[in-house]
Amino acid sequence: MSHDCLFCKIARHDIPAGIVYEDDEFMAFHDINPAAPVHLLLIPKHHIESLADIGAQDLDWLGRMMHLVPNLAYTNGCNPGPEGGFRLVANTGIEGGQEIAHLHFHIIGGARPWDKRAAPAA
Ligand code: 5GP
Ligand code: ZN
Repeated sequence: MSHDCLFCKIARHDIPAGIVYEDDEFMAFHDINPAAPVHLLLIPKHHIESLADIGAQDLDWLGRMMHLVPNLAYTNGCNPGPEGGFRLVANTGIEGGQEIAHLHFHIIGGARPWDKRAAPAA
């Protein structure tokens, strides 16, 4: 754990967040500045900076993290079926637009239109 890291502090319950899911390894909570009707952040509780730091030793927990995504999306307001769905985003590094240096998945969905930040590039 990094003591200075915002998402480590949320994972330790040192600062509050709108938590929607938690287990031994992961936590999901509402983005403080949502870009769509549903905008969750899913993090591993242990500190790892980004997908750029993933190695072969990380594949088991990363698979479990991926497995949580559709369940979290559909139990928190994303619409089911072909008309619904969700977007999964992992900003990585400075040029990837990552502001918080603790790996997180954005799970974004709900009725459109969404904020331009969540829309695909033109
Ligand atoms: P990034 O740009 O690193 O991919 O995304 C960071 C996200 O964290 C942003 O969407 C931002 O709104 C969100 N965020 C920043 N600070 C906080 C906070 O203190 N609490 C919560 N819940 N979300 C935060
Ligand atoms: Zn951290």
